[in-house]
Amino acid sequence: MSNKLILVLNCGSSSLKGAVLDNSSGDILLNCLAEKLNLADAYITFKVNGEKQKVDLSAQPNHTGAVGALLEKLKEMGLDGRIAAIGHRVVSAGEAFSESVLINDEVMAAIEKCTPLAPLHNPANLLGIRAAQNIFKGLPNVAVFDTAFHQTMPAHAYTYAIPRKYYRELGLRRYGFHGTSYRFVADETARFLGKDKNNLRMVIAHLGNGASVAAIKNGQSQDTSMGLTPLEGLVMGTRSGDVDPSVFSFLADNLKLSVQEITDILNKQSGLLGISELSNDCRTIEEEAAKGHEGAVLALEMFSYRLAKYIASMAVAAGGLDALVFTGGIGENSDTIRAKVLDYCAFLGLKLDNEANLAARFGNAGVITTADSTVTAVVIPTNEELMIAQDTARLSGL
Ligand code: ADP
Repeated sequence: MSNKLILVLNCGSSSLKGAVLDNSSGDILLNCLAEKLNLADAYITFKVNGEKQKVDLSAQPNHTGAVGALLEKLKEMGLDGRIAAIGHRVVSAGEAFSESVLINDEVMAAIEKCTPLAPLHNPANLLGIRAAQNIFKGLPNVAVFDTAFHQTMPAHAYTYAIPRKYYRELGLRRYGFHGTSYRFVADETARFLGKDKNNLRMVIAHLGNGASVAAIKNGQSQDTSMGLTPLEGLVMGTRSGDVDPSVFSFLADNLKLSVQEITDILNKQSGLLGISELSNDCRTIEEEAAKGHEGAVLALEMFSYRLAKYIASMAVAAGGLDALVFTGGIGENSDTIRAKVLDYCAFLGLKLDNEANLAARFGNAGVITTADSTVTAVVIPTNEELMIAQDTARLSGL
């Protein structure tokens, strides 16, 4: 055990999320969020012990400026000398990595090579890594990939039924995402249920703004609902999930829209937002549905129904089902969606325990099925930062 600190960074094209964790306790000492990067009014907000402080980044409104401001904040708190390693969330490793790795020049080149698979995210992740290397000189940096955990998927799960030359030539296949969360939650579920993860068939639903499900058998991912990009699969906050691919030509022909415009509609204007015509936020949808708003009622039902269909299909991938797990902001908090999903999936042997379902929220883990259910449903809070910190500590030899 060591009382060193791990810095975890998660960079988007215009944002940077950071957390500083104590390596031995897992406690978070500092959170930060830099927004509007590459715009003149960029800023970073620090959160320490529940108190927020906003710092202007206009002097250097980019990822380097944000990491520099973070170092200044750590100096002010007297913590800079205790940072021992930095872990980076990296979105896509394609087929290059099936585990987290210590970053060197070859790893940087491999991440760069995967840019066509995550054109918005990987370049931002690289900017974050370079900024960390320049500002926290000499510290080990570790890459933890969203795609890595799903590299165990068999070819019949990851291949699209299109000419195979596109896979060979371009790497066009299903990769899946949320891998860090699935790895963490799979381990936690086995621990919580007192079962051996190497002898457990699980379907985990990670339901946040982005949402996906994965089939995990004996600790390994067998299939997942997201594909080449996070657009495939479930109804999400603003993403459509599965649609007939002909939606593209239909909209292009009828409205003369470009590929980029249609991609934006499916990624940013669809899902709960598109259906309800109100909001992408599940809480708002639930509140308005309770008041009888027709769009919100439909959005909630579609979200739950699509999820239930996917859970049943993922039970095929897992070779059966011992545990159904809910995680992510919606999975951990929405008793309404969990109840609807269990109702649709009752034929699989899931019987809802109403009281337990209402009690499992605000970060509480809990079984939400009755004792006579043949399949156990459980709520397990995810913690991607902790998983990244643990990988970072291990690979840095801490
Ligand atoms: P992200 O994918 O951005 O990490 P989160 O995992 O934080 O997202 O999940 C955000 C979603 O969780 C939002 O749709 C939010 O409305 C939903 N959520 C949070 N708390 C509740 C709640 N009490 N009831 C229903 N939905 C909730």
